[in-house]
Amino acid sequence: MDARASLKSADPISLYLHIPFCSLKCAYCDFNSYAGLDALVEPYCDALISEIRLWGEIASGRPVPTVFFGGGTPSLLPLPQIGRIMASLHESFSLDVNTEVSLEANPGTIDLNYLRGLRSAGINRISFGVQSFHDGELRALDRIHSADEAKQCYHWAREAGFQRINLDLIYGLPEQALDRWESTLEQALALEPDHLSLYALTVEEGTKLASDVEHGRASAPDGDTQAAMYEWSCERLAEAGYKQYEISNWCRPGQECRHNLVYRNGEWLGLGAGAHSHWSGFRFADVYSPRQYIEKVRETISSTLDTVAGPAEVLEAMQQITWIEEQSLETAMADTAILALRLNEGLDVAGFSRRFGKTPEAAWGPSLDEVREAGLLAREDGHLQLTSRGRLLANEVFVRLLPD
Ligand code: SF4
Repeated sequence: MDARASLKSADPISLYLHIPFCSLKCAYCDFNSYAGLDALVEPYCDALISEIRLWGEIASGRPVPTVFFGGGTPSLLPLPQIGRIMASLHESFSLDVNTEVSLEANPGTIDLNYLRGLRSAGINRISFGVQSFHDGELRALDRIHSADEAKQCYHWAREAGFQRINLDLIYGLPEQALDRWESTLEQALALEPDHLSLYALTVEEGTKLASDVEHGRASAPDGDTQAAMYEWSCERLAEAGYKQYEISNWCRPGQECRHNLVYRNGEWLGLGAGAHSHWSGFRFADVYSPRQYIEKVRETISSTLDTVAGPAEVLEAMQQITWIEEQSLETAMADTAILALRLNEGLDVAGFSRRFGKTPEAAWGPSLDEVREAGLLAREDGHLQLTSRGRLLANEVFVRLLPD
């Protein structure tokens, strides 16, 4: 019997595909993304397709409810490469008409024909990295598009037939006053997107923004202003008919990003440089460097996986995987609680107790009392939920749930 038959399961599995290329590195960005690697696009796509096929042999037949092309800038990929990747997904996994296939796009990289090509290739949800509707702010962030170009792309996407569109926006930029942010969000609402993701700007180590802040060329984001912007946004979006379903995500009824919800308790494979996965009780990640990723996938396909016996052996045999952690009871409890608390519905206490054999109170005891007393966490209808103050200070809660 093929040893890998024992690894097969009929449970759904989602796919995240990381595309690490960008035209220019944005000032605030610490994602695994690189400008100036155009020569690697084709070999990288070859490696990604090989990795899809490798995993297809192991997880074939499992239904795939969601696929997410993230980055980096997936919209920098030429349409023929997107078509090849989509074809390999269809060959290797069970995608169907209900599979949500999302792609992140930078408005500075696309036109109407490209968007039509994406629709024809099977992409059915698009997420635009807009960040701001003020040109001065966009320039300060080193974004490669203007506010008008972002609006034009939105209209082109509708014309191309996209019925599900997300806009990503960032608030709390250096020197950004509340009314500037309000104006950005109002311009976004005027477009009537199906989904909005709002992120507070953070200064990440090693970014141009961090260096500018350190040398006094930019001011650090102000926490109180960001809190005021977040609170105003929550009220304004509720008034406009958007439901908040996660700390940073709002949607029109029924338009949740299903891929976001998979991270709560499903399994997913992250394919591509630096992508993280959760499969068969393991967390693991591919090597960060795109160049090394290409080399390591080649090494994996030239070796044989035929003799592998179980999940741990599969992961050891995959040369592109650089980090593996078997989930302990403590990390599984922490992952479950944190991912559930990010969502508005919160953590189902009875479900948690059934799965882990102990209540959240028994698992975390005094730490939970502490955040409850601080007004960050509340229990309602059998669910633990972040309060509105807790959503602003979510990391204060999450850090207390992590194992030592
Ligand atoms: S386009 Fe996105 S991934 Fe690329 S540098 Fe800018 S923020 Fe980072």
